[in-house]
Amino acid sequence: MKPYEAQELSIYNSLSKNKEKFVPTTPGAVGMYVCGPTVYSNVHLGNCRTFLSFDLVFRYLKHLGYKVRYVRNITDAGHLENDGESGDDPILKKARIEQLEPMEVVQKYSVDFHTVMQAFNALPPSIEPTATGHIIEQIQIVQCILDEGFAYEKNGSVYFDVLKFNETNHYGKLSGRQLEDMIANTRELAAQSEKKNPQDFALWKKAEPQHIMRWPSPWSDGFPGWHLECTAMSTKYLGNKFDIHGGGMDLKFPHHECEIAQAEACNHESPVNIWMHANMLTLNGKKMAKSTGNHILPHELFSGENDILSKAFPPVVAKFFMYQAHYRSILDFSSEALEASEKGFYRLMDAYRMLQGIATGPTDDWDVTTWRQSCYDAMNDDFNSPILIAQLFEAAKFIHSLKESHGSITKNGLDLLQTTLHDFLFDVLGLLDVSEISEGEGDKLSKTIQLLINLRNEARTNKDFTTSDRIRDELLEVGIQLKDGKEGTSYSLN
Ligand code: AMP
Ligand code: ZN
Repeated sequence: MKPYEAQELSIYNSLSKNKEKFVPTTPGAVGMYVCGPTVYSNVHLGNCRTFLSFDLVFRYLKHLGYKVRYVRNITDAGHLENDGESGDDPILKKARIEQLEPMEVVQKYSVDFHTVMQAFNALPPSIEPTATGHIIEQIQIVQCILDEGFAYEKNGSVYFDVLKFNETNHYGKLSGRQLEDMIANTRELAAQSEKKNPQDFALWKKAEPQHIMRWPSPWSDGFPGWHLECTAMSTKYLGNKFDIHGGGMDLKFPHHECEIAQAEACNHESPVNIWMHANMLTLNGKKMAKSTGNHILPHELFSGENDILSKAFPPVVAKFFMYQAHYRSILDFSSEALEASEKGFYRLMDAYRMLQGIATGPTDDWDVTTWRQSCYDAMNDDFNSPILIAQLFEAAKFIHSLKESHGSITKNGLDLLQTTLHDFLFDVLGLLDVSEISEGEGDKLSKTIQLLINLRNEARTNKDFTTSDRIRDELLEVGIQLKDGKEGTSYSLN
């Protein structure tokens, strides 16, 4: 029997606004699509939170024994600022600033994204398609929507006719917006606009002469609208109707609403069974965002190089911090909150390692089987990681009491406890076994490094730069990087 047959997983569906029992279309197999990053700058921790939320979903579905096809795209064309109204292509803009080919910009930030995801121990998706690699598929969908009568061409560009679509379908069903309200709340179309109505969105845009990312099409040399790539790539790899579509909450409208409209217009069916939306990571109470500069970058977190941070934090601690909140809740980032998570994380790791030395006894003073099911219950309830982590802390408490000989556990009980902790800590949450740097040992390491920093400072005061440089260089060789700043010297473990 597969584990999923013994568990009843419910997932909150943003479309129905209810938690629903999860029943994949094909028994035992799940198709999941998640909108990936637009690769024109480094991902910030907010982006990472969304991708880590879906890493948890991917891992848990796999843990339950499902065969999961997880598709997460790379947006390397078409995502215009201002939703295409007057905006520039940020990849082209960056290419001009950095004097690079647009594809060099794409490569640079795709590599950054992958490196960061790896540092967080996120699993790679099963397929990672790019928008530029699927232009033909996108052109086919534009043609299909035109043939169905839900789009019109104007001066070489093609727009989706939202009002026409809404006569037979429901535009706004995901975001809960009413088309009449949208119409009432929008300004008049600018005189130069080619659209029939402000709600219409671009399926294909004719390229201006300076727009060098362009492809031939029946309508013009141009490029696809942003919403189209996800319709093309999700249906290509997962079929016209698939199980789960995810993304950050801010993509619900217009991006996902438009995806539904495009797929319904062309395929005559709604593309997705369950829409999942991950909530935002905030900083100082405001959404972390590339555009406002209100963000922290992963490398700043790992090195401590940001005034907001009291010190450096390893990726696994940041991940643990994020999972201490449910994916549908807003989470505010702060150095203090991370420090609290770090303590908890090491406490769990210490407890896990303590299991090695526990002597078994004649009775079980703790019902491990019931506790194991509570861990599943937490995850079955819309991937409730904070409740799962609370259950793991309960186990840690029990392990500490065993260590102090205040209880007993049988050999079977101990084995089950160990397996369950291993499953949830490493397989499901995807934390890393940092037993080498547990809190106790980490403390010894940091005191030792501090001693070396003090010796280096003394050497520098005495102008003995041979010694001070040697301390810095030899520490670097073993993977410890010293950084001199306003507040003194800090370090990071590479
Ligand atoms: P982008 O590269 O801007 O398309 O964003 C990539 C993903 O990150 C999308 O799913 C966004 O919804 C998500 N995202 C952007 N900002 C945040 C944030 N502050 N917190 C969580 N997710 C975010
Ligand atoms: Zn998308």
